[in-house]
Amino acid sequence: MVGFRRGRIEVKSRDQLAAMRAAGLVVARALAVVAAAVSPGITTARLDALAADVIGDHGALPSFLGYHGFPATICVSVNDEIVHGIPGPRVIRAGDLVSIDCGAIVDGWHGDAAVSVLVGAAPELQLLSQVTEASLWAGIRAAEAGSRIGDIGAAVEATIVAAAAEHRQPFDIVDGYTGHGIGTAMHMAPDVPNFGEPGRGPKLAVGMAIAIEPMVTLGSADTRVLADDWTVVSTAGSPAAHWEHTVAVTSVGPWVLTAEDGGGLLRGDPLA
Ligand code: MG
Ligand code: MG
Repeated sequence: MVGFRRGRIEVKSRDQLAAMRAAGLVVARALAVVAAAVSPGITTARLDALAADVIGDHGALPSFLGYHGFPATICVSVNDEIVHGIPGPRVIRAGDLVSIDCGAIVDGWHGDAAVSVLVGAAPELQLLSQVTEASLWAGIRAAEAGSRIGDIGAAVEATIVAAAAEHRQPFDIVDGYTGHGIGTAMHMAPDVPNFGEPGRGPKLAVGMAIAIEPMVTLGSADTRVLADDWTVVSTAGSPAAHWEHTVAVTSVGPWVLTAEDGGGLLRGDPLA
């Protein structure tokens, strides 16, 4: 059974969602800069510095720096590292699959998103990343007022299961790590699992915001945490992809706050 984090789900006013959109756009721009810089020879510390520059240039604050002692602006997780990798002297090499997770704060409101970037052209890793991103968007499309958290997890899960069957690849959803509510803090109620049952879990209402973040491996999704107390790796050494967006539930559909174009799913003005 999926356990849902208990507690009241924060509901934002239009003005508060507008502030979250500002934070989301800072995250989108930081991730765009970092993703474009991912190439053979660059260090993960350099990627971190690029993100810090973008966030600072916008007058925003990084969500991650100092979070439970996390020492950097972004997480950079390479190959069998799934999430929470710490930037440092590691040099990116051809063939690496690099997941970048970034959060920023504007006027006290958080945005949180992640992308995976493949260096080179390994077809099975390309497919892993594409399938993971597709599962994120399936989850986002389920984030409608009146839907339930289980509808999102079910949509993510169905996408991965179908892709594994279609492509005959051992895609596996990482257990033990979930998306989350977001707003005045980065991690809030409710948990947003990457699997679930339709119609189960907390109900979504206009003004709620959640981060949806599928983590998928090519192989086994069993995990362990490295001695740095942060980096989550696949125990079997399977490569992993991670995609994430912060999404607001509005009366006109899901508003993807961390997508430059808002996600393209809105049926009207979410702030009208
Ligand atoms: Mg994140
Ligand atoms: Mg997150």
